[in-house]
Amino acid sequence: MQRRPFLATLGATAAALSTGARAQEAGSKKLGWALVGLGSLSKNQIAPALQKTKNCKLAAIVTGTPAKADEWKAKYGIPDTHVYNYETFDKIAENPDVDVIYVVLPNSMHEEFVVRGAKAGKHVFCEKPMASSADECRRMIAAMKQAGKTLGVGYRCQFEPHHRECMRLAREKVFGDLKFIDAGFGFQIGDPTQWRLRKKLAGGGAMMDVGIYAIQACRYLAGEEPVEVVAQETKTDPVKFAEVDETISWSMKFPSGVLASVMTTYAFNGANYFTATCQKGRFGMDPAYSYDGLKGWTSKPELKIEFPAVDHFATEMDAFAEAVMAGKPFIPSGEEGLRDLLVIEAIYQSIREGKAVKVGTV
Ligand code: NAD
Repeated sequence: MQRRPFLATLGATAAALSTGARAQEAGSKKLGWALVGLGSLSKNQIAPALQKTKNCKLAAIVTGTPAKADEWKAKYGIPDTHVYNYETFDKIAENPDVDVIYVVLPNSMHEEFVVRGAKAGKHVFCEKPMASSADECRRMIAAMKQAGKTLGVGYRCQFEPHHRECMRLAREKVFGDLKFIDAGFGFQIGDPTQWRLRKKLAGGGAMMDVGIYAIQACRYLAGEEPVEVVAQETKTDPVKFAEVDETISWSMKFPSGVLASVMTTYAFNGANYFTATCQKGRFGMDPAYSYDGLKGWTSKPELKIEFPAVDHFATEMDAFAEAVMAGKPFIPSGEEGLRDLLVIEAIYQSIREGKAVKVGTV
């Protein structure tokens, strides 16, 4: 089983960062980003983060709601020529100010806009989960390859220093061989009418939305791919969660023998952690996946995991821009998004069939 590219590419990302910084110093232009979907994440996180980046700027918006367009035009000084709706989106191909399309729509709409972004000849950054099925991910990867453009997936934690330090502790075996991981992420979801509870738009429930962070953490701590999963689901509110999963716990087995015990939920708050138990000690994070206030810990009092807060979105967008400017591959790529969907599909299959399921391969 191939070692995971996450860890191998930490150095590559650092190299891309310095190359990008040099390009910036040399006066290269900032990459123009077009945000597709002006919902909560775009409004509260991504647009403010774009203002903090070194290598990126908000160049255009794509929205189905004209009132939102007016608000954004005024707030960010976006000209009418750089405002699109879902029907006029393809004209973005003719806009030289747009280098990157950032897809921030409900999960099952990602494929359409990534493929249209590829056809427009732009680089594309896609929010997590990359899509609602592995087949959609495969089509997205193929479209981007055909366009010869870079595809990135929005796994912001991979650019966050506490997480990167935990990857290092695992990779360098600072506490000896990794033996066991436990991880979980969930929250109590509100509005019962939102798209996150509609299978057609979300693809799934808590697993697709936040369980994916715990899958990511397990994969980058283990540094290899899970080969088998066993999962169990419970629904305490079968009406609210009629279409999507509410609470799932599962285990994942890795080729080296590492086991992970993981959970996700839409039913309660509090789970936001991972712990890596190694032969000679333990380390972890709690909270692990929030936008701020992250805390790392180790079983050695003298070995602390403490870093100043960074804006996850600004950091990942700069890293993407730097990879593009340096002509280097970006990780997490589409293949990373696909690998998580393969794990999720195996988990859902295990629930349906009541038995252990092998994880599909890329
Ligand atoms: P949101 O509901 O706040 O926004 C969704 C946007 O899509 C809205 O602008 C809405 O108008 C638009 N839209 C277009 N067609 C729609 C339809 N048929 N139904 C519903 N909305 C439609 O959602 P969000 O929280 O901004 O999430 C968007 C994406 O970002 C999702 O894929 C989500 O998983 C991801 N996300 C990632 C993070 C992260 O930390 N990386 C955090 C939150 C959300």
